[in-house]
Amino acid sequence: MVEGYGPAPAAWAREALSDAEVFIRRLFTDPAGQLVAMESRSRKAPDGLAEFIVTRDGGICRTNGCDAPIRNVDHAERHADGGKTSAANLQGLCERCNQAKEALGWQARPGPDGSIITITPTGHVYTSPPPDTWRPDPPPLSRAELVLRDMVVDHALAA
Ligand SMILES: [Zn+2]
Repeated sequence: MVEGYGPAPAAWAREALSDAEVFIRRLFTDPAGQLVAMESRSRKAPDGLAEFIVTRDGGICRTNGCDAPIRNVDHAERHADGGKTSAANLQGLCERCNQAKEALGWQARPGPDGSIITITPTGHVYTSPPPDTWRPDPPPLSRAELVLRDMVVDHALAA
């Protein structure tokens, strides 16, 4: 995407930028073409990405059992250890949990579907999926499922 111009073919962009000193950021879309994530090489999440993480995480700390509001957007896998500044590797944490994850023996890494996997110093593993609020709707019921649902409703009403 060239600002002020629009989309450009990838091959042309690679050729045009081969000698240039440029800043390139990968953007990710869902199958419908809506932007869903943005890559960054900087350690600190850009404002838009940080806002995306807070929204995805529902404004609540991602640590299992913690209901405190998010105060920090930070890497699950540490940036110093190669963790990317990306939606998959960022999580919203409260101040206490953000400090605790830096303690000796604690590890975290991104899991599938926005989950964060935390490993404690004792080896216990906890998975924290993002809030259910943002999961897609289930597929529509099939004709057979609709008939079965109506039978169950009719049976329940007759009882
Ligand atoms: Zn917390």
